[in-house]
Amino acid sequence: MEVEAVVNASTVRSWLEGAAASVREQRDYLTQLDAAIGDADHGTNMDRGFTAVVEKLESLEELPPGKVLTTAGSTLVSTVGGASGPLWGTALRRAGRSLGDAESFDGADLLAALEAALEGVVELGAAQEGDKTMPRTGCGPRSRCRRPRGAPRISGSAASAIRIRARPRRR
Ligand SMILES: [Mg+2]
Repeated sequence: MEVEAVVNASTVRSWLEGAAASVREQRDYLTQLDAAIGDADHGTNMDRGFTAVVEKLESLEELPPGKVLTTAGSTLVSTVGGASGPLWGTALRRAGRSLGDAESFDGADLLAALEAALEGVVELGAAQEGDKTMPRTGCGPRSRCRRPRGAPRISGSAASAIRIRARPRRR
């Protein structure tokens, strides 16, 4: 039987909860980094934003995965401020819009969503190739990021990092 990996809204919620926990854990370190070149508020700002994301999502019932991401993005924009709020917010909103209203998505959809997020960040920040900016950590050279559509595989660490369930391929 041919199977495909699909991701649903509860998995996306758990990704965001995981991100919030990591940001909380690294809050002081992020702030130290910002202190070297900025105004020493990055960890505090990101923690406030992701805490708000988790609270917002807890207050909302069932949403499709794309709507979970657009909601998270809008929450970051309105709570983080500075450059980080719009950048991360745009990334999540673009990814969410790319996923649309589907109840679940597969590896090819995920890559399209990541590509949309990256494009949003590049547009907003006017990033150039080689700049030491967010897109550099996004997924590297596009040629390595892209996978042909119709090859819905999530492999390696990405697969173990998320809870995936297999189901028969739709006809
Ligand atoms: Mg700052």
